[in-house]
Amino acid sequence: MNKKEKENLVKKRLLELSKEISKHNNFYHNLDKPEITDAEFDFLVQENNKLEKKYPNLVLNKSPNKFVGSKVKNKFLKSQHLSQMFSLANAFNENDIVDFIKRINKFLNKTYENNLDFIFEPKIDGLSLNLLYKNGSLVSAATRGDGFIGENVTKNIININDIPKYLNSKFPDLIEIRGEVFINKEDFKSINSGLKKNERFANSRNAAAGSLRQLDTSISHTRPLRFIAHGLGKCSFIYSSINDYYNDLNKWQIPTNNLSKLCNTVENIMSHYNKVNNLRSDIDFDIDGMVLKINNFELQKRLGNVGKNPRWAIALKFSSEKANTVIESIDYQVGRTGAITPVARLKQINIGGVAVSNASLHNFDEINKKNINVHDTVEIERAGDVIPYVTRLIKKNNSNNKKIKPPKYCPVCNSKTIKEIDEAILRCSNKYGCYSQKIGQIIHFISKKSLNIDGFGEKQAKQFFELKFIEKCEDIFNLYKFKTQIINLDGWGELSYSNLIKSIANSKKITFEKFIYSLGIRFIGEVNSEILANEFNNLSNLLLITKDTSRLKNIDGLGPKAISSLLEYLDNKENLNSLKSLQKILEIKHDKKIKEKSFFSGKNLVFTGTLVSLSRDEAKYLAKSKGAKISSAVSKNTDYLIIGEKAGSKSEKAKTLGIKIINEKDFVFKINQ
Ligand SMILES: [Zn+2]
Repeated sequence: MNKKEKENLVKKRLLELSKEISKHNNFYHNLDKPEITDAEFDFLVQENNKLEKKYPNLVLNKSPNKFVGSKVKNKFLKSQHLSQMFSLANAFNENDIVDFIKRINKFLNKTYENNLDFIFEPKIDGLSLNLLYKNGSLVSAATRGDGFIGENVTKNIININDIPKYLNSKFPDLIEIRGEVFINKEDFKSINSGLKKNERFANSRNAAAGSLRQLDTSISHTRPLRFIAHGLGKCSFIYSSINDYYNDLNKWQIPTNNLSKLCNTVENIMSHYNKVNNLRSDIDFDIDGMVLKINNFELQKRLGNVGKNPRWAIALKFSSEKANTVIESIDYQVGRTGAITPVARLKQINIGGVAVSNASLHNFDEINKKNINVHDTVEIERAGDVIPYVTRLIKKNNSNNKKIKPPKYCPVCNSKTIKEIDEAILRCSNKYGCYSQKIGQIIHFISKKSLNIDGFGEKQAKQFFELKFIEKCEDIFNLYKFKTQIINLDGWGELSYSNLIKSIANSKKITFEKFIYSLGIRFIGEVNSEILANEFNNLSNLLLITKDTSRLKNIDGLGPKAISSLLEYLDNKENLNSLKSLQKILEIKHDKKIKEKSFFSGKNLVFTGTLVSLSRDEAKYLAKSKGAKISSAVSKNTDYLIIGEKAGSKSEKAKTLGIKIINEKDFVFKINQ
């Protein structure tokens, strides 16, 4: 190839790159719906910059570096929150609210009649933001991210009027103020009318996200973003209640919700809910429900959290949006755990600003109960982020009399399907051989909450699986053996290949709990993975349980379904081999959350009898927060038996085994030390 020919090729590639980068930039920043991963975007930018550096004479007028200036960076700086940002569990009706209040009362060892004070206010459909003020000055603003680390968007919010740079009257030395960034309904319409048709936002929430998360801050600054505060993170001053805190916010001219109300009975709560629901169309911004939260901060602290959800708050959703359409066909989807879900392919409709063309039919019993068939007109319901589903039959089309029957064989691998007792779901029996289950496992293994391999998603996993480069999870670490083949694949190159290998290498350091989760064992989700990690500390210990399963049954919080699923997984030879190879490849470390050193750190506790001053749940929660392990039965591994009133046989057994017994009063004293 002569120089001229070579240069023509480079020119052509630069033009392609410029188009691609500009397209994905738009998807990511303006539409807030990226089509490729951060890493894939990086590859494009790096390739472009490398070529531009090598051939400075060929730099295009349309170079991505010119049209977005130095802003060709696809990442915001990360920002660590000083205290965790939670997300809320959902309630859908009055019964859920009653249950929620009962749960709280039980945890706090109160009777249900004991009326607690709640703050009840509209839930704005926007983005959560954490504002950090030090000595009264705004230091940083960050999105929620994973609850611990978010994106630093300080420069983007600097023009929002509702967020003061300085707090003007008496303030704590340090305070994290949390709230929602959003765009008013009217402003949303006018933003969209100024955008090209294919660039318009589907709803005001996307518009707020797309406007806030702009690397080009000048775009953020022109968008009419608003802020309403609703939460408190770390704070150097101790507020007694949300009410007191809101009073200070208002002094600092930070808006709070003017439909916020103090409620203490279910009647109060439901009547305020109905009132706001009726006002909904008159409110300036979109709301998708109401938030109910305990007013007293001391009680909030006692109630604590379960994973990502605080125990002291819940979102009561407004009823979802519905629309009617025709079912064009019914397909089956086979998931990672073999579950076969019937899916209705629909004549596309728009529900609440979102195009919907698929809806879940849940399971085969549901199809029959609802008497639904292809060509029928049905009602589709969509609530929040949940997959839309078919609620009921609207009009029967009798042209199709063939009854929908559950498939006897898996639509993917043709193995027999099975239905377990007390389960409505049909499954493929070919647990470790079905394509959908195998590929599902691999996709789960590399996904964000598991190994989190940048630039390696479903698309790549399927590509490599079909080419037989990978068959099992551990094969991912041998992909380098297929270097030449991968580089020559469509859409791959030298750079993207080496980036992938780097990402894979970076994923090798993993916490023990994430590792357990990444295996995708049925019923072993994030919560149970954490329980197992804390109990066993490392993989070798965990593997020993097949020899003595009694220990598993004794772990507080681990249910019988999880136990049998785990044992079944470990009973499989191939799984064991995989675990052993992964143990060699990965650097699995048990990440002991730093807990306060206390009398109970690392100790094994068993509770028995009725506690008087606090509930059993709260006692366990407190003990765990001080680093204790809780078991359900006394054994030679037990360090202390905590006894309440009417203690039974456990205390006899403890005496025989010579285990120390602590009464409630001493327990509370030692916990508070
Ligand atoms: Zn199958």
